[in-house]
Amino acid sequence: MRLRALSGFGVKGPASFLLEMAGRRLLLDIGRGPDADRLPDLAGVGPVDAILVSHGHADHAGGLHLAEQVGSPPIHATPPVIALATDPVLRAAIPLDARGVVCGLSNETGPAGHAPGAVWMRIGGADGVLYTGDISDEGAIWRYAAPLPARVLIADASYGVADAGLPDQIAELAALADAPMLLPAPAHGRGLEIALAFQRAGVPVALCPAHRRVARVMADCPGWLVAEAGPTLRALLDEAAVLAPDSPPHGAMIAAGPNAESGLSAALAARFAADGTARIVFTGHLAAGTPSQRMVQDGQALFRRWNVHPTLSGLRRLLDAVRPERVIPAFCEPEAVAALQATVPVPVAVGAELAL
Ligand SMILES: [Zn+2]
Repeated sequence: MRLRALSGFGVKGPASFLLEMAGRRLLLDIGRGPDADRLPDLAGVGPVDAILVSHGHADHAGGLHLAEQVGSPPIHATPPVIALATDPVLRAAIPLDARGVVCGLSNETGPAGHAPGAVWMRIGGADGVLYTGDISDEGAIWRYAAPLPARVLIADASYGVADAGLPDQIAELAALADAPMLLPAPAHGRGLEIALAFQRAGVPVALCPAHRRVARVMADCPGWLVAEAGPTLRALLDEAAVLAPDSPPHGAMIAAGPNAESGLSAALAARFAADGTARIVFTGHLAAGTPSQRMVQDGQALFRRWNVHPTLSGLRRLLDAVRPERVIPAFCEPEAVAALQATVPVPVAVGAELAL
């Protein structure tokens, strides 16, 4: 078995891992960004047998147009990811095999909590690899199941050793609700979780059409939701106002996209930054070269993290579940890799390549 991080190791970069096992070659994700639309370098990779997509976010699936560089293999993704995709390549993906076999290799998956239809995957059974994709066990809507044991763990370590829990983060955000607030978020991600938290706190919520579409589609996918989250999503749709470009500033306004780079959040963030009638609060990675980074730097917007990746405590829970011989911390800078190396009780891979 050989594993190579084409991208996503030692950097908060696009995800792409090449796994060679039993004569088969699989690509786990081909992302883009999150900073500066960066793409993995696929030169010299050669043909692969299949591409497995962990979830639909751009930094995991935004490089699928590069698939012809690796022989245009079949692309596999979960049914919700396919249903919510706007990229025609992802919309045409093959639903991940319910029997848990891809190219003759066992591939078991489970819900990763991070986003609608997001999965972790275990390839090659207990002697193989567990790839978390992006993962979080703190959400109130997107279902999470603990991953299976495996020899090697590629772990979402986006937050390094940070350990603030989501309940504290929710309390911090709620404390800002004394004024109208715009919360840019990915429509198929934390936006609906944020909306639910504000609704539960008694703050009026408005949702952009992109978020409403995701809520409608996912309300009919109970297997991908925390118990009772289907009725919760329907109630959210009933009670939340429809957010539009000319909506008056009011309550918690949740709009796609996450960096005010696109969607309704771009127009609303520009408007509220100019007239000062609502706070603008970003809650995810501030992508380089996007309005979010500039607005926070210029004091026009605030940053308050909303966990959608594991905290250090979450990483410890992952390690307890997977019990790997080796862990590859993904999506974080070298300093975070070193900090984890000093902290977790499992050998941490320090290179982008691993042969076992
Ligand atoms: Zn993601």
